[in-house]
Amino acid sequence: MSTRAQARTLVAMTLTGLMHWRRVAGLSSLALLSLMPAHSALAGGAHTHGVAHLSVTVEATQLRLEFELPLDTLVGFERAPRTEAERESARAALARLREPSSLIKPDAGAQCRVIGSELDPSLLEGPARPAAAQGHADATLTVQLECAQMAQLRTVELLLFDAFRRLERVEAQVVTPKGQAKATVKRAAKTLRLPK
Ligand SMILES: [Zn+2]
Repeated sequence: MSTRAQARTLVAMTLTGLMHWRRVAGLSSLALLSLMPAHSALAGGAHTHGVAHLSVTVEATQLRLEFELPLDTLVGFERAPRTEAERESARAALARLREPSSLIKPDAGAQCRVIGSELDPSLLEGPARPAAAQGHADATLTVQLECAQMAQLRTVELLLFDAFRRLERVEAQVVTPKGQAKATVKRAAKTLRLPK
């Protein structure tokens, strides 16, 4: 079971426990919601092949993007690679994911630079592991940028459409000091607009 699957199981178990407790103590559903981890409220969405989920946060000079990508969308399978061709697909995908500046392009005027990134490649790397019980798996990528002229940041071009041809759309949630927004970015447009 992947770390992610374990985390989900843990959340499910915690919620089951909470709901049991709620019946006993009459805890309001609002309180129950507020106890859920922020991650599941932000990036978590249904696992659909061809669809990536993206959570964008702007805070002062920092821009943070958190992608959740079905492995099927990255390489066409959702288990550890078995053949040499699959290993090559996995290597190519991992190389792109480790080069975040080739996947996102914020407005040049905002003068953003990548200051850190974190990749959980799920089953694409490491020793062969059995696929998750439900047969699906996601890779997650978090990219942190520092933007010298954050006021100039209006759009982020999602170049990952070029890197991953199976990607059809990105479901984004954006939180900036100006507000919150949801946006669907399709392959044809490729550009995420931030709240004005
Ligand atoms: Zn899947």
